[in-house]
Amino acid sequence: MLDWTEVEEDKPARFVLTPPSVKEEADSTGLGKIARGAARVRVDDKAMINCRADVNQLLPLKYRWAWEKYLSGCNNHWMPTEVSMQADIALWKSAEGLTAEERRVIKRNLGFFAASESLVANNIVLAIYRHLTNPECRQYLLRQAFEEAVHTHTFQYIVESLGLDEGELFNMYREVPSITEKAAWALEYTQNLSDPSFQTGTRAADQAFLRDLVAFYVVFEGVWFYTGFAQILSLGRRNKMVGVAEQYQYILRDESIHLNFGVDVINQIKIENPHLWSHEFQQEVRQMLRSAAELEAAYGRDTMPNGFLGLSAGLCEQYMHFIANRRCAQLGLEPVFALTENPFPWMSEAMDLKKEKNFFETRVIEYQNGGSLTWE
Ligand code: MN
Ligand code: FE
Repeated sequence: MLDWTEVEEDKPARFVLTPPSVKEEADSTGLGKIARGAARVRVDDKAMINCRADVNQLLPLKYRWAWEKYLSGCNNHWMPTEVSMQADIALWKSAEGLTAEERRVIKRNLGFFAASESLVANNIVLAIYRHLTNPECRQYLLRQAFEEAVHTHTFQYIVESLGLDEGELFNMYREVPSITEKAAWALEYTQNLSDPSFQTGTRAADQAFLRDLVAFYVVFEGVWFYTGFAQILSLGRRNKMVGVAEQYQYILRDESIHLNFGVDVINQIKIENPHLWSHEFQQEVRQMLRSAAELEAAYGRDTMPNGFLGLSAGLCEQYMHFIANRRCAQLGLEPVFALTENPFPWMSEAMDLKKEKNFFETRVIEYQNGGSLTWE
């Protein structure tokens, strides 16, 4: 029997229908005219940005790390409604269950996350997706976009369960200056890309794209979210708001993959485009982390003026410096702050959900096993 696969493998296109001038313009959307009869995609044709290979062909895989993150995301599937809110509802409604300060921290924290999950999702779909010209990375982005929807759903579920003021929580990013400042800082980077005619391919445009990745993956999801997780998880450690704390643990597990994906994307773009990662640009990225930390310090002082459950604005600032330095190391940059210890070592334990399975004595849904499906 004839085997055509070998023969076809590296054969040039049988029919070249597109004139060279048209061929020059790579279709980064995947929705352009079909290059009928064009040659098959080879691994070496694939690239993170400004790719000329067909973005509709997942295989052959080039970036296994992206595919593996997609699989990990799927294995971590969860829904907020699976977490019982009974204890939280009782505590929230009881007059002396929580201090005024604790209520303030909880509300600001929820308000910050409720809007942030949406900003991150919109940035993925409307700014990043179009310019990341690799199908395995896009596969992960599609998964991540769904996870951000699950996170937004979490805040809807919390508001509904606790009977919170919807408008107060979801509009907080436009009403509370320390939250507004953070959102506005990140939005500037995505706004640079929002012009429909924005295209990567020049040094300036590619660097603008990198800045957006740094702002959203490294700063928003990788630094700011972590002080927010520390606030809620420290409540959970004291047996307060255990349902919300469990949901935050799931979100934290998702976010640690989002962050690592972003870091891998940036590092891979650096490898493929070393000219973008100039000395000046590196200093600029470090400056971004520094100014992000200042905004977070202001937010910490604003939300926890008198300290909170062993957390204080000062300790949160130290934690943020620790985290920001780690992010620098992950990007191959010099630290931006004086080296400091992690003031919340329990945060790294909270990140290992398996180890913490009985931490809040609640049920952890196992999605790892497809065989547990029942058909009723
Ligand atoms: Mn999220
Ligand atoms: Fe995320």
